[in-house]
Amino acid sequence: MTTQFEPVIGLEIHVQLASKTKLFCTCPNGVGEDTKPNTAVCPVCMGHPGTMPVLTEGAVALAVRAGLSLHCETQKRSSFSRKHYFYPDLPKGYQITQFDEPINGAGYVEITFGPKDNLQKKRIGIHHAHLEEDAAKSSHFADHSLVDFNRSGSPLLEIVSMPDMRSPDEAYAYLTEIKRLMRWVGASNCDMEKGELRVDVNVSLRPVGTEKFGTRTELKNLNSFKAVRDALQFEINRQTEVLNAGGQVKQETRLWDKVECVSRPMRSKEDALDYRYFPEPDLPPLVLKDEWLENIKAGMPEMPSSKEARFMAAGLSAYDAGVLTSSREIADYFETVTKSGKVSLKTASNWIQTDLLGMLHAEKKEIENSPMSAVQLAELLEFVEGGKINRKQAREVFDEIYAHGGKAADIIAKRGMVQVTDEGQLEAWAKEAIAANPKAVADYQKGNKAAIGALVGGVMKLSKGKANPRVISQILAKLLG
Ligand code: ADP
Ligand code: MG
Ligand code: ZN
Repeated sequence: MTTQFEPVIGLEIHVQLASKTKLFCTCPNGVGEDTKPNTAVCPVCMGHPGTMPVLTEGAVALAVRAGLSLHCETQKRSSFSRKHYFYPDLPKGYQITQFDEPINGAGYVEITFGPKDNLQKKRIGIHHAHLEEDAAKSSHFADHSLVDFNRSGSPLLEIVSMPDMRSPDEAYAYLTEIKRLMRWVGASNCDMEKGELRVDVNVSLRPVGTEKFGTRTELKNLNSFKAVRDALQFEINRQTEVLNAGGQVKQETRLWDKVECVSRPMRSKEDALDYRYFPEPDLPPLVLKDEWLENIKAGMPEMPSSKEARFMAAGLSAYDAGVLTSSREIADYFETVTKSGKVSLKTASNWIQTDLLGMLHAEKKEIENSPMSAVQLAELLEFVEGGKINRKQAREVFDEIYAHGGKAADIIAKRGMVQVTDEGQLEAWAKEAIAANPKAVADYQKGNKAAIGALVGGVMKLSKGKANPRVISQILAKLLG
């Protein structure tokens, strides 16, 4: 007999805040790989003895914006502590972090997961989200190691979830939502390849139908969404086997090997580090002024959930509304295309998702770098909505604008694309097509409605593609009775 187990998952996510300066000095933040190692540094972020940290306002503002996007209760008073451990990338021997008084208290996010046509929503609690400084970066070689302090002292926001997720898919959806929100409010770029979003996953199992949580393991420093999903699935399978064999899961920290796709023990609860937290004596508590906080709140953009609700109220599916609000830039683009009211939401949604995002994706471009502006697409789609050109022609114009720029009206005129709308001419072509294809006519009249396709094709040929297939099928259907 094997027991059915249910996974219980909680995530700790570190995002690097996109502030101009580091957390406790005015060195440039987030300089990246192309900057020479150890050039964006000063004695403070290199941890020299006798230096004093000074909290920078930009990072605090972004931490608060991030917290508001997670529905966290902003704490008017928070404080910093020292977390002690020694490692070459932390030579001063402690990290300045927030411990018992984080800047963001409890909150939640709404995640969306499941199949496209049956999306599910669920609320995931946020325990808190606190500020801390990043460590330096070590690189290990065969016979030596190097440390780069450019990243040392960068502001991180650690977002700690409640153990509310029940599957790797939910964890994936949670990550997707956190990334969307952080980018939406400009708190972080969340570029995982640059290490701007790092994840620790905690997972335990409990028999289905029971309340009490089982013993958890933790996998640290996962740096891709795929690694999170794979690591969770591996750990769920591993713990299931342990429990079904009558064993017990050990509370421990494990390392994920993304090459071999296995987790290995790193340290157990018994040898858990004692961080000897104590209040940071060099920093006074952080107290936010009411006016300052009101200013931050007033500067928050409309959130994606609100836009999604508006798009759905206007008739889009939950899936479409989700894609069109997956980034603020995509949502802005979509709203610019539909602003005039001359292009329907559905038409704009289809063209943006299938055609535009398709092209951009193939070229690994973001919509903000789209060679075709929202205004250019809107002008093109007005011709489509007016039935003046058909979809195939519109795609040709789209490709031309995408590759070489220009205005839809000019390209349509230059190519002589505008469709024939003269009813008399269309009917004459329809009659010609009927006369030329008695088999299709007979099939159609026997009840095979699809046979009309051949006749529509005939008219398209006669019109050299300048007829609207939808109008033609109507005319043909009328003529065939
Ligand atoms: P620690 O301070 O040791 O990291 P926390 O209590 O702060 O522990 O929890 C860290 C993360 O682990 C949180 O995201 C939380 O939701 C998750 N978590 C706690 N208990 C469990 C459990 N039994 N199973 C799965 N996740 C858990
Ligand atoms: Mg932890
Ligand atoms: Zn510095």
